[in-house]
Amino acid sequence: EVRLEDVSKAYGGQTVVENLHLTVAEGEFVVLLGPSGCGKSTTLRMIAGLETVSSGRVVIGETDVTLASPSLRNVGMVFQNYALFPHMSAFDNLAFGLKAKRLPKAQIARRVTEVAQMLELEDVLRVRPKNLSGGQRQRVALGRALIRKPSVFLMDEPLSNLDANLRDHVRMELASLHRNLKITTLYVTHDQGEAMTLADRVVVMSAGRIRQIGTPEEIYNEPADTFVAHFIGSPG
Ligand code: ATP
Ligand code: MG
Repeated sequence: EVRLEDVSKAYGGQTVVENLHLTVAEGEFVVLLGPSGCGKSTTLRMIAGLETVSSGRVVIGETDVTLASPSLRNVGMVFQNYALFPHMSAFDNLAFGLKAKRLPKAQIARRVTEVAQMLELEDVLRVRPKNLSGGQRQRVALGRALIRKPSVFLMDEPLSNLDANLRDHVRMELASLHRNLKITTLYVTHDQGEAMTLADRVVVMSAGRIRQIGTPEEIYNEPADTFVAHFIGSPG
């Protein structure tokens, strides 16, 4: 479970995320949906510990992690641009998070192989990112986030760099990955279609605030206000 309790974030004097309250249940897939600049990435980064909160609390499982460093949060994150290490092979990109843990080599190799099999990357483990296809790069980024068996999986617009065909394909892969692993997931997008097809529940944000939380059906059929209705494109 992930809980945000009255979380706000300001840069300088400007508040960019305001009084967020959100609980993501164990195994749930929650999508943060909203227009550019509404504070989605900032919210994920605060959960990952890459950004401090200005006020409020972040709780993961039973633990208040508000002041904990990223490495103590057991969170895996996939960034919009994947942020792979260009000079490292796919194998070394995957293994990176385990090396920091000082695990024995054989154990690292075993876990990398396991994740590579799950994501169908066995044949490209020696290849560097620039020689991988977009879809392969994306799967290396997913694998890198999953390699330490995180209790929380954070994804920031993971499909936005893929062409349209591949995007649909990888979206289905993500859905099936979630059915298999059941990791508590927060997924950021500004794409309504992605939100509606992937989410157990959708959190609609605008201008740093949560406008509505509900299942895709609830959001579509009973939008809380005209902003949500317009953004979702629902008839109401
Ligand atoms: P997008 O869909 O374009 O990625 P977003 O919803 O992820 O947008 P954020 O990146 O969270 O939006 O940014 C929210 C607001 O906070 C924006 O107005 C942005 O300019 C501002 N912001 C983000 N990071 C910083 C920073 N380090 N310093 C100052 N302002 C920032
Ligand atoms: Mg963003």
